[in-house]
Amino acid sequence: MNNIAEQLNAAYHNITENCQKLGREPADVCLVAVSKTKPIAALMAAYEAGQRQFGENYPQELQAKATTLFALPELEWHFIGPLQSNKTRLIAEHASWVHSIDRLKIAERLSAQRPADLPPLQVLLQINISHEDSKAGIHPDQLPGLADAVAKLPQLQLRGLMAIPAPNDSKRAFEAMAQLSKSLQQQHPGATELSMGMSDDWPLALHYGATMIRLGTAIFGARTYERNE
Ligand SMILES: *Cc1c(COP(=O)(O)O)cnc(C)c1O
Repeated sequence: MNNIAEQLNAAYHNITENCQKLGREPADVCLVAVSKTKPIAALMAAYEAGQRQFGENYPQELQAKATTLFALPELEWHFIGPLQSNKTRLIAEHASWVHSIDRLKIAERLSAQRPADLPPLQVLLQINISHEDSKAGIHPDQLPGLADAVAKLPQLQLRGLMAIPAPNDSKRAFEAMAQLSKSLQQQHPGATELSMGMSDDWPLALHYGATMIRLGTAIFGARTYERNE
């Protein structure tokens, strides 16, 4: 597991270098370590190396890991996967952030199910920026309406946008996301976060203003299996 600490340190080092080139503050960029499918020992190795933000895609896996690791101070869970109505409670109870809101009904359920003793859930709206039938996310035209409705929900805090561009569309997509983020902030000044960039395209995402990058493979190595729900 030493590898994980090394890869994490290398990633933070690279982020700092890229930020310096771009004239950005490294502290303004949050690295979310995407730990889906990885065992608890891998997460512990990252935690011990200083990592506090972890990303998960599957509600039951999030719940199992959050329950196992609940005593670790400062650990924050980011839910970044597809959302289904019958699984929202697991997310409302365990996540600090949700990156993948794309329907009002799901947002309403998360707000209603968020335990009152926890701070509001920090949420991002997912944009289907490459217009792929297979991907979650709203069309950019739907953004103003969904943003206004989500911002009114009591137990949610609208913090920004997320996207997963199609392969080969990263540059155009990141540029388009930067524009959308700018226009969103005119109505919702607190929605400053831009979650985009994964292991193979994050430097370009940083260039276009990403504030949260989601790295799985670069930290934990290749995943041996993928699940779909
Ligand atoms: C799996 C996943 C990632 C991490 O992907 P890598 O290419 O392994 O860095 C990032 N974001 C989302 C939404 C994912 O599902």
